[in-house]
Amino acid sequence: MSEEVFKKVVSHAKEYGFVFPSSEIYDGLGAVYDYGQNGVELKNNLRQYWWKAMVQMHENIVGLDAAIFMHPKTWKASGHIDGFSDPMIDNKDSKKRYRADNLLEDKITRYQKDGKTIKADELQAALDQALLDNNLVQLKALIEQHEIVCPISGTRNWTDVRQFNLMFATEMGAMAEDADKVYLRPETAQGIFVNFLNVQKTGRMKIPFGIAQTGKAFRNEIIARQFIMRMREFEQMEMQFFIRPSTQKEWYEHWKAARMAWHEKLGFGSAKYRFHDHVKLAHYADAAVDIEFDYPFGFKEMEGIHSRTDFDLKNHQELSGKKLQYFDAELDENGKAYGNYIPYVIETSIGLDRLFLATLCASFKEEEVGEGEKKDTRVVLNLPPILAPYKVAILPLLKKDGLPEVAREIMKDLKTDYNCFYEEKDAIGKRYRRQDALGTPFCITIDHESLENKTVTIRYRDTMVQERIGISQIREILAKEISWGKLLS
Ligand code: ATP
Repeated sequence: MSEEVFKKVVSHAKEYGFVFPSSEIYDGLGAVYDYGQNGVELKNNLRQYWWKAMVQMHENIVGLDAAIFMHPKTWKASGHIDGFSDPMIDNKDSKKRYRADNLLEDKITRYQKDGKTIKADELQAALDQALLDNNLVQLKALIEQHEIVCPISGTRNWTDVRQFNLMFATEMGAMAEDADKVYLRPETAQGIFVNFLNVQKTGRMKIPFGIAQTGKAFRNEIIARQFIMRMREFEQMEMQFFIRPSTQKEWYEHWKAARMAWHEKLGFGSAKYRFHDHVKLAHYADAAVDIEFDYPFGFKEMEGIHSRTDFDLKNHQELSGKKLQYFDAELDENGKAYGNYIPYVIETSIGLDRLFLATLCASFKEEEVGEGEKKDTRVVLNLPPILAPYKVAILPLLKKDGLPEVAREIMKDLKTDYNCFYEEKDAIGKRYRRQDALGTPFCITIDHESLENKTVTIRYRDTMVQERIGISQIREILAKEISWGKLLS
């Protein structure tokens, strides 16, 4: 899929009520987006897919919904106040700001496209090393050596590279003198860590066990790109899995495989995914891998799996002065109880918006349909039926002769279990196309025959096949095709 198709996906998302720029009437707000009437349904369904796979399908994983605001010390303990920053650089002519590492990555991509693979590999190695050493001077040197120009001004008039903290800060308390600096959380994980003992004790959880959470996170990204790929307000779905120290390798491999299998169940094809091991490890990790998705603009991170050691719990214990330990009564191979320890953690962390974008890109199709005079292109979203915003569209062929009444009866029966779309305007062909564009897997059409023999036409989105079925059969057909079991079993 090319950049050109990506443009189509982005405009489709807007035109069909999936994603709108935030505050659009004021010309938008950088890297902030709103989900429209269809987008919110798809997003809810994707979130549910994750939640069910994590919480419902695992006896030893439970959920949590922690607040966005947390005690400021949280971010000291987690390392975000001191270390959560990106290297930025400004072009003095265009006054545009960039992430220094992004500029170099783009250059690597250009070298690759031009067949200069040795140059690309050399630059990649130098970039990895500079990031590993946190060497800002070296990043600037690489930008100069490789003659990188500002895409806006076309000049090489750069500032030095500086660190830029990505956390948004605000003040809590009504009175200025009471004001205390608080941060909008840059990740949901810390809400899980600070509640680790609350959940473990009240849920009587035994190691290994997990806590899952979905929710908003905020990062003041230096440069936001590629639509909802990099936003300043986004949603994460994270699960922290608490384990015995020294078992992290096996659990890391377990969750790597489990998460890849979860993605592949969506049916977009395994070639769309790949693992990418981290060379530069975050301050908290002893191993980390990304699951990358083949977006129209190339393979990019969709999910991270991190072996976080006991870094977070240990630091919270130290800074809070509260013991964050687990008593493990089970016996080791020498017959000795494991006793008290700070658990190690494997984290799986996926951005819901990046999953949403991957789902839109993978399911967006333009197909040639019909022949001769009737030749046409249809746009269809081949979404897994259970994820579609609407499961079924109820379409009376005409707005009269008692057809809407029958249609309403059918809708009344189905809507308790399925999100239904009702429409009686326009030619039926046009209505089918609109549902294809929303990804609605089934259309039920009510015509005059329906009045005579209680039958309707069911139309299948992917094949466009139409079948005559009894009204009494509708539920059976829908139940067979629309079930979480297809994704979860
Ligand atoms: P990147 O390298 O792309 O900035 P990251 O490695 O900082 O991402 P993590 O901190 O591991 O990301 O966050 C976990 C997940 O949260 C990512 O895999 C991604 O799906 C999502 N995510 C992170 N930052 C953003 C963002 N600005 N907009 C949308 N999703 C994001």
